[in-house]
Amino acid sequence: MDDVTAILDHMNPAQREAVSAPQGNMLVLAGAGSGKTRVLVHRIAWLMQAEGLSPYAVLAVTFTNKAAREMRTRLEALLGISLRNVWVGTFHSIAHRLLRTHWQDARLPQHFQIIDSDDQLRLVKRLLKDHRIDDERFPPRQVQSFISGCKEEGLRPHQVDVHGDAYLAQMVELYERYQLTCERGGLVDFGELLLRSLELLRDNPELLAHYQQRFGHVLVDEFQDTNTLQYAWLKLLTGMQTPMTVVGDDDQSIYGWRGARIENIRRFEQEFPGAKTVRLEQNYRSTSAILDAANALIRHNSERMGKELWTEGARGEPISVYSGFNDLDEARFIVDTIREKVEEGTNRREIAILYRSNAQSRVLEETLIRQGVPYRIYGGQRFYERLEIKNALAYLRLLLNRDDDASLERVINVPARGIGTRTVEVLRTRARQTEVSLWQALHDALLDASLKGRAATSVRAFAELIEGLDNDTAGLALHEIIDHVIERSGLIEHHRSEKGEKGQARVENLEELVTAAKAFTQGETFEPPEAGEGAVALEAFLSEAALNAGDHEADEFEDCVQLMTLHSAKGLEFPVVFIAGVEEGLFPHKMSMEEPGRLEEERRLCYVGLTRAMRKLYLTHAELRRLHGKETFQRASRFLRELPEEHLEEVRLRGQISRPVTAGRPAVGLSRQTSVDGGAELPSLSLGQRVSHPVFGEGVILNAEGEGERARVQVSFEGEGDKWLVLGFAKLTPL
Ligand code: ATP
Ligand code: MG
Repeated sequence: MDDVTAILDHMNPAQREAVSAPQGNMLVLAGAGSGKTRVLVHRIAWLMQAEGLSPYAVLAVTFTNKAAREMRTRLEALLGISLRNVWVGTFHSIAHRLLRTHWQDARLPQHFQIIDSDDQLRLVKRLLKDHRIDDERFPPRQVQSFISGCKEEGLRPHQVDVHGDAYLAQMVELYERYQLTCERGGLVDFGELLLRSLELLRDNPELLAHYQQRFGHVLVDEFQDTNTLQYAWLKLLTGMQTPMTVVGDDDQSIYGWRGARIENIRRFEQEFPGAKTVRLEQNYRSTSAILDAANALIRHNSERMGKELWTEGARGEPISVYSGFNDLDEARFIVDTIREKVEEGTNRREIAILYRSNAQSRVLEETLIRQGVPYRIYGGQRFYERLEIKNALAYLRLLLNRDDDASLERVINVPARGIGTRTVEVLRTRARQTEVSLWQALHDALLDASLKGRAATSVRAFAELIEGLDNDTAGLALHEIIDHVIERSGLIEHHRSEKGEKGQARVENLEELVTAAKAFTQGETFEPPEAGEGAVALEAFLSEAALNAGDHEADEFEDCVQLMTLHSAKGLEFPVVFIAGVEEGLFPHKMSMEEPGRLEEERRLCYVGLTRAMRKLYLTHAELRRLHGKETFQRASRFLRELPEEHLEEVRLRGQISRPVTAGRPAVGLSRQTSVDGGAELPSLSLGQRVSHPVFGEGVILNAEGEGERARVQVSFEGEGDKWLVLGFAKLTPL
């Protein structure tokens, strides 16, 4: 780009001021959709073009990997150059990069592994068991959140003040033991990534000086959700000298429950020298009906920093409120409406369904599948968190690091190879007593023959399997290593022999892992892969997998309806938004109702939800809901009452459903004549219909997904079981 001022095109005066401000500390404080993220991206471009800052001198922190990728792409488009190695990422990915580069100074093994909260919980449970600690008095999740909480506050065990409280002292002791296990296995949890990298910089003045000089400007998006540790990390890294641009919105702080501190915004203004505050007040995202409603809602919170938002946009359509008689009815309304919208020309990817709790997605998903509407879930059962993938990754991790106890425990008897819980218990006890890893304990037990008979044979076979995998994969490319490991470990076979669709899906996922590895080495994923093969590539891949388990899914460009929790919708925008389950106890969540502070956080979450919508917003709730196996009557959320009536409109489903007199669930779904859009030459089929197949014989259609050529149907064949078939290929004849 020749003319730097082009970076300032299509910006209002306040945005322009922020983008082109001289280097110095700056806070951009503004409401949703006012262009904060856009200003941040343009400011980076401005610093490079107008101020001559090198791309390598920029450090930009975003909230998700997806946001980081987007930022990089937008910058490349603005500047017309490739920016592969620029430091743009989440706090976690940047901390990881530091630790990977300086593993020795960080006192970590070279192939340290990141563990997610699932592994963390498993470790805690094992500790409680090993030390015979009552897990009712010390529930594992509570211990886990205590440990994470300490790390978020930057506290090591010896720094926690127990005030002579025995309970607290026990917690601290567990934290200490947990930490020892991690150290021994070279395991690093998410909180540890940050704390360790903070200590790395703090304890190595030369390194700190190097990075302080290297970065000429640090930028942070969604600053309202930084926690104490992240704030300290930024302070250290900038030495309060390197200028910082932070953008945020106090009304969108939604991670207080995870240690985020809104006060960081005020602290920034006070602590960072010469910090200048810029406010943006024009919203470019939503219609004025949506914006007015969001503004009215958030006014119910006290303690706000106070901001105004206005739009030049039209009033637009009113917000539609639908009251379903149960959760199925709610889902059906949402999916029917989506189908109408799509018929009218809206792309599916422009539509999002947001909800408060992950568990709500199941009914929505089932209805979408039944009606053949493709969708994608952000969060929830993400690829890298699926059981079979985690098992495969555990094998891979063992190849790199035999002392990784969490991984060893995960797969020592998966697939089943005759190593029972008693044997594992023996190994654990031994590991604990001699203070070694499980792998070491296993070898010791074989050597001194304290394991005998069948147990010894099985354990030896497992040890040989791991060593064998290691030998056989030396020198192979990353995807070949993975391919070999999932075959030889017996994982693929294990799932192949599982009955039904679940096993099939697991096999497909394992195969997808090989594909993911290929894509990774070809540099199609976010972090540029390291040079090198084998162990180095494997280590980088595993780290990426662990970091990625936090967000996004594979192909973002497919035309799918987007499903996600309200939390993961932060920062995003969609032309059409549905918020489902707007009910007391669900949203606001029942856990928050007793504490005013938490209730305000729920209201901010609602504000985040409302302000994701650009053109059209639907709020739905159900009078009867089945959640966690229980059926309960629900009341509409107080948040609905807090919205201005003039912008709301009650809707009823077209083709009316009569309200049942009793509270029973109506039979909906399978009897619907949902046609699977089969294109011209494909047969038109409906759920529940009988069909015949040249090989499998006769059966009944149970399920359908996708559209046109790629539509798939699940058919239950007599004698052949359930099969998923692609309509474009399978020769199905309606009967
Ligand atoms: P959030 O608080 O939700 O993160 P934000 O303040 O970061 O929102 P952006 O996502 O940067 O807002 O911008 C919202 C929308 O408004 C985007 O589609 C963006 O492209 C558009 N936008 C921002 N500023 C302008 C402008 N000056 N002219 C036209 N469109 C703009
Ligand atoms: Mg933003």
